[in-house]
Amino acid sequence: MSNTEVHPDEVVCQDGGLPGPRAACVDGVPVEIIEARDVPLGGPRAMTVRRTLPQRQRSMIGAWCFADHYGPDDVSATGGMDVAPHPHTGLQTVSWLFEGAIDHIDSGGNTGRVLPGELNLMTAGYGICHSEVSTAETTTLHGVQLWLALPDAVRDGLGRRFEHYAPDPVAFEGGSALVFLGTLLGQTSPVAVHSPLVGAEIRLEAGALLALDVDPGFEHGVLVDAGEVTLDGVAVPRATVGYTGIGTGILHLRNEGTEPARLVLIGGAPFGEEIIMWWNFVGRDSDEITRYREEWQAHGDRFGRVDGYVGHDPDGLTRLPAPALPGVRLHPRQNRPPHVQE
Ligand code: MN
Repeated sequence: MSNTEVHPDEVVCQDGGLPGPRAACVDGVPVEIIEARDVPLGGPRAMTVRRTLPQRQRSMIGAWCFADHYGPDDVSATGGMDVAPHPHTGLQTVSWLFEGAIDHIDSGGNTGRVLPGELNLMTAGYGICHSEVSTAETTTLHGVQLWLALPDAVRDGLGRRFEHYAPDPVAFEGGSALVFLGTLLGQTSPVAVHSPLVGAEIRLEAGALLALDVDPGFEHGVLVDAGEVTLDGVAVPRATVGYTGIGTGILHLRNEGTEPARLVLIGGAPFGEEIIMWWNFVGRDSDEITRYREEWQAHGDRFGRVDGYVGHDPDGLTRLPAPALPGVRLHPRQNRPPHVQE
């Protein structure tokens, strides 16, 4: 997935520090609702994604710094996904599908087919580029792409990697879960992470209630894909994220509807480092972002090259150019600190 906004905002992401407004807590409600904004991925038949992170309201949940949710889309109408080679730095991409298939190629020499219920994790670190194209057989495309910011101590030392893991479902009364990163419901993903975090798909049957044990040091987000879900008694509409702060050891998830519900749980320890996100880069300061952009435009070695990309449009771009930087230096923007549940 690429951030294809023509004039991407810079987003400085920070936790802790200054006290911020805690609107949801003022009313004694422990859950903050983060609404999505629609973002076209670009191309002649642009597929639109629903982006809940980053937002002005909240830019990170643990190390999770980007969340796109899409579909179910009839690809005969939307064209599906076709993202030409584009760069990343300082992050890992998590591709997680509910339906359809996406072919991935990256400059680390990795190719992979992203399938429903299977984690595909790409580590950008110092620099990588990749392409993402839904397969010709795909009729419905439906899933999420999430980014994880890498801590400063490891971000430049990690090589280009692409990891695959298909978790076994964990059953519980009224549903099941696929734990793709971290530990939940007694299941631990073998895929290494670089800060304490968790990621899982959870399905709830109609009427099911799940009291989910979680790490009280984590903040959590519940992205609802389908169903009438409440989190700690607060309705979380479809395609929004219900956010809980740190300090609670149990999340109460309920499917209030008559149809099955599906959600993606993301969580982690407050990241504790300020980052700057601009376009597809995560960095630490304005000069670094400028340098990444120049190196990508100059076909620099930092990013390598993708071999074998074939898009849906024979006349389409073979490489996504970086947008223009804003004419001013990227300025910090305060993120609200995680709220603390009592
Ligand atoms: Mn990407």
